[in-house]
Amino acid sequence: MSGLYHPKPGPNLPFGTKLNLKGYPLVPGQPDCSFYMKSKVCKFGSNCKFNHPENPENVPRDPSRDLSHYEAFRQHNKDRMDVSFFLCHFTKSEHPVNSQTGIFHDIRGFAYDRLESILTQKKVYDCVLPHLGAPVQAVCFTEMMLPSLSMHAEKYSPWGVAFHKSFLFNETRANQVLYCRDELFQSMKEKAKGDHDLLRYMTPFAPKYSEQLPQGTNPVDYSHEREWRTPGPVSFELENLAYVFVPDIRLFKELMPDLHTTLREGCGDQGYRKGG
Ligand SMILES: [Zn+2]
Repeated sequence: MSGLYHPKPGPNLPFGTKLNLKGYPLVPGQPDCSFYMKSKVCKFGSNCKFNHPENPENVPRDPSRDLSHYEAFRQHNKDRMDVSFFLCHFTKSEHPVNSQTGIFHDIRGFAYDRLESILTQKKVYDCVLPHLGAPVQAVCFTEMMLPSLSMHAEKYSPWGVAFHKSFLFNETRANQVLYCRDELFQSMKEKAKGDHDLLRYMTPFAPKYSEQLPQGTNPVDYSHEREWRTPGPVSFELENLAYVFVPDIRLFKELMPDLHTTLREGCGDQGYRKGG
């Protein structure tokens, strides 16, 4: 390994090979590395040709770790009203009518269906980011506080999930988005040379108050969202969820009776109180 934080895949590996969070190669076409699967370490490091899954034993993260990080965060930020330890992902309804044929084609794809599949599959899937001009994918989260969050829910949907920052930071490669003014965005894009792991965290920033906005260009300013992104899909266990957002608990019970029961049993009264 060439460094603790910036290991590069070794010369044995094809160009573009990704490394897991510990710096071992992710090679989906290869069998899992037997050393790594047994001991969680591999002496070949970033040059091993076998696959090294992110979580070899598939052990779910102990939720008490995030609760203790949350407690420490709260102590540290107790006078700050504008920071949150939660990152929220709201689902979106897709227009159920095919824009080309005008035919009503797919009843699934409504916001609550998407939430149902997130909770059933215990996965939040990534999607293609707009504005990047390349098929870069990510799962997007917002750090907004409650008043803004309700406006956000109106734009997306009132269905969603939230995780503790510590969960997403430690279990995925979650990072805050870098909002870049035009010349910075262009130069960063050039330097990233198509590397999705860098491009994923950039977003253009051209606020209404910009005096350089060419005529006829629309402003792009999502900085109020304080967005975080992570490569997807994000896998989790239900006990890793900090919140589940629903517009109405009775509607939730009616649409997803099994999940309603599971979440209520799993989270106790405290979890049940949580809601949009
Ligand atoms: Zn190995």
